[in-house]
Amino acid sequence: MQTTTAHKIDSIRWVSDAAFVLRFDRRDLPFAPGQYLSVGPSGEINMREYSVYSAPSEEFLEILVKVVDGGYVSRRLAELTPGDPIAVDGPFGYFTVDDDWRDHRYVFIATGTGISPFHCFAGAYPGMDYQLLHGVRTSAERYDHEVFERTRIVTCITGDNSSDYHGRVTGYLRDLRDQESGINTAARYYLCGNCDMIYEAFDILQDAGVPHNQLFAEVYF
Ligand SMILES: Cc1cc2nc3c(=O)[nH]c(=O)nc-3n(C[C@H](O)[C@H](O)[C@H](O)COP(=O)(O)OP(=O)(O)OC[C@H]3O[C@@H](n4cnc5c(N)ncnc54)[C@H](O)[C@@H]3O)c2cc1C
Repeated sequence: MQTTTAHKIDSIRWVSDAAFVLRFDRRDLPFAPGQYLSVGPSGEINMREYSVYSAPSEEFLEILVKVVDGGYVSRRLAELTPGDPIAVDGPFGYFTVDDDWRDHRYVFIATGTGISPFHCFAGAYPGMDYQLLHGVRTSAERYDHEVFERTRIVTCITGDNSSDYHGRVTGYLRDLRDQESGINTAARYYLCGNCDMIYEAFDILQDAGVPHNQLFAEVYF
C-alpha cells in the first residue's frame, strides 16, 4: 500500500562536491537502523530508495545522497532548499541487525554512499564491536568519517595514496585472506553499495569459509 507522506526539508549539508546530507522533519516515522526510505520531489511520481543515515534517537531524518551523472531524482533532491516539501514512503528493508548484536563481531563493507546504513548503526548501537571498510575513489568521499572510531575504520581509496589501503575493498579482503590472521569466519558481514563489489566480496568471503547465513547485502545499483 502506498503511504507517501509530505515532509519538510530542514537543511542540506554538502559533504563533498557531489554528495550531501538531506535532513528533514521526522513526523514520528519509526524505522530500524539499516532500513531505507523511498524519497522524491513533492508532487512527482519519481521516487528512489535511500538508506536512513541518522540514528533512530534523532528527532529528524537524514539521508546521504550522491548526485549521479545523468540521474534524475538525486539531481532534483540536490536543488531543494530549507522549507521545501518532499515525498517520503517507508521504511522498507531487512538490512538490520538482530537484538543480540552485543554478542557478535561485525564487519561492514561499503562503497561510496553505501556507508549510510553503517553511519546509522554507529549512532544507534554504541559499544558495537565492528570494523568498517569503506571503498571510495578519492579522499574527498570519506563522508563524515570522524563519526566512526578511528581504529574501527579502514579507508580503501583507488584514486590516491592518502588512505589506509591503496586499492579496492575487495583487494583489501584478498590481502587479508592471504595473511596469517586471515578472515574472521565467525563475524557477521554486512555489504552495501554497488553490486560488482558485493558479488566479488561474497565470493572472497565464502571461499574463506564464512557461512552464507553470516552474509548480508544491500545492493544500491
Ligand atoms: C535499497 C537502496 C538503498 C539506496 N540507498 C542510497 C543511499 O543511501 N544514497 C545514495 O546516494 N543512493 C542510494 N541508492 C541509490 C538510489 O536509489 C538511486 O538509484 C540514485 O540516487 C540514482 O537515482 P537518480 O534518479 O538520480 O538516477 P536514475 O535516473 O534513476 O539512474 C541513473 C543511473 O545511475 C545509476 N546509479 C545509481 N546510484 C549510483 C551511484 N551511487 N553511483 C553511480 N551510478 C549510480 C543507476 O544504476 C542508473 O543506471 C539506494 C538504492 C537502493 C536500491
